[in-house]
Amino acid sequence: MVIKPKIREFICTTAHPTGCGESVKRQLAYAASKGVHKGAENVLVIGCSTGYGLASRISMLENFHAATLGVMFERPAAGRRTATPGWYNTAAFEKAAAEKGVYAKTLNGDAFSLEMKKTVAETIKKDLGTVDLVIYSLAAPRRTDVNGTVWTSCLKTTGESYTEKSLELRDNTIVEKTIEPASEEEIQGTIKVMGGEDWADWIDVLSGAGVLSENASTVAYSYIGPELTYPIYYHGTIGAAKQHLHKTAGEITEKHPGVRAWISVNKGLVTQASAAIPVVPLYFSILYKVMKEKGIHEGCIQQMVRLFTEKFYGADGPVTDENHFIRMDDLEMRGDVQEEVKKAWQAVATENTQEYCDIEGYWEDFYHMFGFGYEEIDYDQDVDAQEGILSME
Ligand code: NAD
Repeated sequence: MVIKPKIREFICTTAHPTGCGESVKRQLAYAASKGVHKGAENVLVIGCSTGYGLASRISMLENFHAATLGVMFERPAAGRRTATPGWYNTAAFEKAAAEKGVYAKTLNGDAFSLEMKKTVAETIKKDLGTVDLVIYSLAAPRRTDVNGTVWTSCLKTTGESYTEKSLELRDNTIVEKTIEPASEEEIQGTIKVMGGEDWADWIDVLSGAGVLSENASTVAYSYIGPELTYPIYYHGTIGAAKQHLHKTAGEITEKHPGVRAWISVNKGLVTQASAAIPVVPLYFSILYKVMKEKGIHEGCIQQMVRLFTEKFYGADGPVTDENHFIRMDDLEMRGDVQEEVKKAWQAVATENTQEYCDIEGYWEDFYHMFGFGYEEIDYDQDVDAQEGILSME
């Protein structure tokens, strides 16, 4: 069938298999250009199909030739409905791993469930024996916990309501958005979904099953961002969850003497998860402009390759700041970058977005996430939407 983008506000409801393949191909090529390093051997990637998790898995394959077991929550094509991008990305990734003769298996289902955790532990035992690295890169709107309680996350401020400039994605205008503060229940819900509880549960199950190697590591991804976005991000509901995640790293390391848990604070980037946060897309489009002009802009793959090849597997272990965070947002948070972002933020209005924002760059990343907007692909061609994933066939 011929597949075109169908955009609804901050989500695209279609995905292009060849385009997602192109996106994976480009990421593989970038990672391969950075050479093969010593480090991971057998890796579990929870949230492996898009954004930072996919980029991590690609770096594991190309930079370490590591075997990867991935967990994701994606949908195959059905009738006239295309699969989700993560489905097509994973199909392309597994093909690339097979061509290299490197193990890659993917389990599709709810990572929050105990059942999935047990299936993963059994699969590791059977196929790999143990894993030496567990990457936790979930971004989800809700979680059903082990007691069957459903928790929902939300993207709101806490304390007082907050009014700020925002990029209206429907027509690229600058508008003012007011975000009402979350209730205590909404804050708790977001912590339950995006905080560290599930990460700790994963390590408990894997450690209990004896499938973590001696001196295994685990890393979860976080974001802090500048003061400008604190009211909606770091001091908002999602920030409360991230602070819980940070605390969990210490708790995991303490509870499991053979395991070291790390937090990598990554750069703000357009992904399916971040496009949904109010105010943040405007910050990103200004940030993209400033960082591109300085020649220091990075996407998910540049971030993850730099994380694993330069900061994580260094001679003395991960390079961290005084809070034990690995700072992949080092370039984003540079004084000169944030100074310019602040000035642009004050000046930006609908009439001058070209001057201050990289709106094209924002939309380019957005379309690419769904496999659209690649020049080498003829989007009028018929394609087979029913692509299968090797390890699930
Ligand atoms: P994403 O939406 O691109 O990826 C989310 C992944 O989680 C996908 O693989 C998806 O299939 C999987 N997933 C979601 N629900 C699941 C479930 N119930 N069971 C199994 N798999 C499930 O998101 P992302 O932006 O790459 O975010 C990953 C992590 O990185 C998050 O913790 C996020 O907060 C963090 N982070 C993101 C940014 C950013 O700007 N995008 C910056 C710093 C840190």
